[in-house]
Amino acid sequence: MKSKFRFGLEIKALLIPLLIFFAPQMVFASTFVGNGGTTTDVDLLITIKQIQETLQKLDEKSECSCPEELAQDPLCEPLLQLNDHEQEFCKEMLWNQRSHLSSLLDPQSSLQFFWAETAITINTEGDHKVVDAVTDAAKQQITIHRPRFLDLKQKERIFLLTHELFHLVKIGEDAITDTGSYGPFKNAGGGRKLLNSLGATVAMKAVELKQLGHYSDTFNLSRSNKRRWVGLKLGSTAVSSGDRTYLLNTTGGWGALFEFRYQWSWIGSYVAARSITFSKKLEESLEVKETIPGVELGASFCYSPFKDPLTFWGQSHLLVKVGLHLSAYTYEASDPSVSITDEDKESLHKPQLALGFDYYFPLNFGMWLTLGSELFSANYEYRSLNLSYNKNLWTTHLGVHYGF
Ligand SMILES: [Zn+2]
Repeated sequence: MKSKFRFGLEIKALLIPLLIFFAPQMVFASTFVGNGGTTTDVDLLITIKQIQETLQKLDEKSECSCPEELAQDPLCEPLLQLNDHEQEFCKEMLWNQRSHLSSLLDPQSSLQFFWAETAITINTEGDHKVVDAVTDAAKQQITIHRPRFLDLKQKERIFLLTHELFHLVKIGEDAITDTGSYGPFKNAGGGRKLLNSLGATVAMKAVELKQLGHYSDTFNLSRSNKRRWVGLKLGSTAVSSGDRTYLLNTTGGWGALFEFRYQWSWIGSYVAARSITFSKKLEESLEVKETIPGVELGASFCYSPFKDPLTFWGQSHLLVKVGLHLSAYTYEASDPSVSITDEDKESLHKPQLALGFDYYFPLNFGMWLTLGSELFSANYEYRSLNLSYNKNLWTTHLGVHYGF
């Protein structure tokens, strides 16, 4: 009992500073999209970068028109309908507002993005209308219907977001609205025609300037903001402390672990099934073997030390786990003429502490490579052999995980 008590104290002593250290910088897998930083969703961030890069490459002569080779693109439709006055107005607005638009997309700007999981309905002049996104210019907030956004092609995302961003541009005192009338964009709906022309121009420029291919590697890179995780880990196990007098304990073992984890945000929970085997050949023919199957249940804490989610290291993260395990212990010794077996199944009713960490390296399409370690207490006895143990087992493992 002495050793177990000490182990419990060690866990508590470790846990408190760990929580204090990790709390301010946890990775949030929440649906809220902050502006920059670790909470920004990769899909949206890529669109933001593509718009910024396209705006930087505009020049004073950039027209609100479609390049000839792209004239068949459905996104060109609003541009093909523009008369000369409208084209001129659109062109000037784009050129004059390009820096303002870029600054809105800057991580330091007050603009905030939110995801909506269900369709967004707006009420305009008594009519209900389903839209992909909506902008609140007064609050500097853009809300996007996430499932719809994920369905859109990259250029369509640029079109949508540019349209919404121009809702934050003011003409005189007021921000541009879909129903307003602006210069040659007259009558109700003039605003929408103008915004669609600006969105289409930036989207088509991005295609023309080949901005869309820049992030194809990032698109495929596995993302850390997934909620469900499954994984298989294989590794070696050693006895890290406690009684080493019994011959078998001096040998290393190997183990396999299968786990499922649900990660709400920086905090999650996991369940795992594992088996560890120690075996050794003594002298010529005597073989001894100890097997330790068990289940584990606990809490997981996610922390990302690197900040740019568009990079390999920005997606990589550390996972710390604190849990309880229930294990059974079986001992077998055999030579050609005799075999001895003993087991402790009562330990299945005695939860014991487990503490571990894994570092996650992103592969592609949701797959991850992990490297980690786990320490857990093992308190058991083989009654018929008159052996009792109070020790800690230390495993080091390599794993493959899938997040979805
Ligand atoms: Zn609009």
